[in-house]
Amino acid sequence: MTQILIVGAGVAGMAAAEHLTAAGYAPKLVDKAARPGGRCATRRIAAELDADWFDYGAQYFTVRDEGFRALVDADLQAGRLAHWSPAIASAERVAGTWLLTPSPDDRERLIGPRGLNAWVRQRLQAARLEVATERQVQRIVAEGGRWRIDYADGSAEWADVVVCTPPAVQTAALLGPRAVGIDALAHPEAALAACHSVVVRGPALPERQAIFFKSGRLSWVADNTHKAGRSGDRHLWTLHADAQFSESHIETPTAELADALISEFATATAQRASDMEIVRTHRWRYARPGPGAPDADELCWADTDSGLAIAGDWLAGGRIEGAWLSGREAARRLIAAYALGHSPGRDKPGSSRPG
Ligand SMILES: Cc1cc2nc3c(=O)[nH]c(=O)nc-3n(C[C@H](O)[C@H](O)[C@H](O)COP(=O)(O)OP(=O)(O)OC[C@H]3O[C@@H](n4cnc5c(N)ncnc54)[C@H](O)[C@@H]3O)c2cc1C
Repeated sequence: MTQILIVGAGVAGMAAAEHLTAAGYAPKLVDKAARPGGRCATRRIAAELDADWFDYGAQYFTVRDEGFRALVDADLQAGRLAHWSPAIASAERVAGTWLLTPSPDDRERLIGPRGLNAWVRQRLQAARLEVATERQVQRIVAEGGRWRIDYADGSAEWADVVVCTPPAVQTAALLGPRAVGIDALAHPEAALAACHSVVVRGPALPERQAIFFKSGRLSWVADNTHKAGRSGDRHLWTLHADAQFSESHIETPTAELADALISEFATATAQRASDMEIVRTHRWRYARPGPGAPDADELCWADTDSGLAIAGDWLAGGRIEGAWLSGREAARRLIAAYALGHSPGRDKPGSSRPG
C-alpha cells in the first residue's frame, strides 16, 4: 500500500487525512507539538469558576463551501461544534478618544463547546486517526524515488507520498533545495503575518463579549467565559494584537507587549489595567495571511509525479475553512492521480493503489 505521511495535524492535515482515509489509504500523521490542532489552540485551566478553558489562537470560524457546510452540520449534530452569538462592538480611536459602537451582524460563528482544539481532536478521534505527537520533522529528502523523513531526534522513516502542512517558512525549511522552483514557496516569509496574543482575567463587560478594533494596537478581543456559557464577575479575555503592531514588535519581549495590549484594552473599555491579571501570553510567528500569501484560488500545491503535496491555510486565503479546503484539495489531487494508476516516484516497489 502507498505509504503516505502527513506532516502537521492542524485543520489542513486533518482534512487531508480524513479524505485519504475515506478513499482507502492509511495515512500517518505526525506533529511536532504535544497535541494535534495547530493554531486551533485551546488551554485548559483547572478549577476556574469563570471558565476552565480559553482559545488563544483561532477564535471561531465561518462557513461558505458546501462540503465544509456538510461537515459543520454533522459536527453540530454530534455536539462537536456549537454556535456562538456574542454581542459585538467595534472600537475606534477618534481624536484621542475611544468610541465603542455596537456592531451586530447575522454571521454564523462556530466554536468548539470545549474550545477549537477539542473540535479538531474529537474529529481525529471519530475518524480513528492517530497522531504521532512530539515528532518534529527536520528534513524531507527525495531519495531513490521515495521520500526520506528525517526527525529532529535523529530517527528517519520512508514514505511514497508526503503532504506538508506547516506554515510556508517551516515547509520551505523542511524541503530545503526541493523548495526552490515551487511557486507557492517563492516568498515564504511573507505568506503569514505574526499575531501576539494575551489572555487576561478581568471584569465582565456588560453587553459586550467581543470587540473588533479599527485602530490602535489591538485587532480583536473576545470573552472566553461567554463562549463557555458561563457567567461571573471575572471573565477570561483573549486579546489579539493588530498585524502591523505584531510585525513591528516581533523582537519585543512578550511581557512588555502584554502590558501595552492590556493598557489599550483597559483604556478602550474604560476599565482599570490593574484589574487585569495575565493568564497567558503567546507570540504567533505565523498567524494569518500576510502580504505575500499565494493566490487563494490554488488551494494547495501538488506534484503527483514525485508524490509531494503542500497544503495549509496560507494557500487558501487563510482561516479554518481555508485550511480545510486546502487539505481536502491536496488529498483529492493525490487520490485522482493514483486512482488512474499513476505511481508517485520512480522505481518504487508495490502498488500505488490502496489495499
Ligand atoms: C491568533 C490567531 C487568530 C486566528 N483567528 C482565526 C479565526 O477567528 N477564524 C479562523 O477561521 N481562523 C483564525 N485563525 C487562523 C486559523 O487558526 C488557521 O487558518 C488554521 O488553524 C490553520 O490550520 P493549518 O492546518 O493550515 O495550519 P496549523 O494549524 O499551523 O497546522 C500546522 C501543524 O504543523 C505542525 N508542524 C509545524 N512544523 C512541523 C514539523 N517540523 N514537524 C512536525 N509538525 C510540524 C504544527 O505543530 C501544527 O500543528 C487564527 C490564527 C491565529 C494564530
